[in-house]
Amino acid sequence: MVQLQINYLDWNGSVAQSGRCYEVAKKHGKKVIVMEPVKGGTLARLPEPAMQLFCDFYGKDAPSPASLAIRFAASLDEVLVVLSGMSSMEQVLDNTACMQNFVPLSADERALTERIERFLKSAIAVPCTACRYCTEVCPKDIAIPDYFGLLNLHAVTGQKTNMYYQRYSMNHGKASDCLACGLCEKNCPQHIPIREMLKEFAALYEDAAAK
Ligand code: SF4
Ligand code: SF4
Repeated sequence: MVQLQINYLDWNGSVAQSGRCYEVAKKHGKKVIVMEPVKGGTLARLPEPAMQLFCDFYGKDAPSPASLAIRFAASLDEVLVVLSGMSSMEQVLDNTACMQNFVPLSADERALTERIERFLKSAIAVPCTACRYCTEVCPKDIAIPDYFGLLNLHAVTGQKTNMYYQRYSMNHGKASDCLACGLCEKNCPQHIPIREMLKEFAALYEDAAAK
């Protein structure tokens, strides 16, 4: 078997290429273990317009957005196991409930994931999965994925959360502390231009605060 990053946001993506990797595994008769089915939480906390699509589709008995993402991965024929990072008992119960009486995604639900995918791709600024491989090598201990989370939140909702930035930068390097050494980019599986994005983040959060 092989372990692959598979979720509906990366299915047609040019970086993680979930769909293409899955087809290669299938061609070679390999079963698949799925990682990142909820893409680091991105598909569990849908922004407002995407959440509206989701609620319009399911109505008042809507399941959680995370369960849609997990069922997407589990609906693939060659998938053996779906791994998902969980940080509360509520998430454990939700994730296991949707697998207990498992129902594969219908064609209409698959079409819904494609509509949400199109919206998210148009809104997200940085395709960071919060794997934190970059932070392991950063000499300035910059909280890179946390800052990218704030950048994406701003891109999707227009909200700036200075309080979070202050909290992160109290114990970690600030975005403007970046030495441009590039070590983080060598470790990033998503090939994100981290140095460039940190500059953008610093302009948004630090320059604006200094004015
Ligand atoms: S380029 Fe900046 S963020 Fe990346 S490892 Fe070096 S100091 Fe850290
Ligand atoms: S290595 Fe890349 S994807 Fe992972 S947390 Fe860092 S920036 Fe995000």
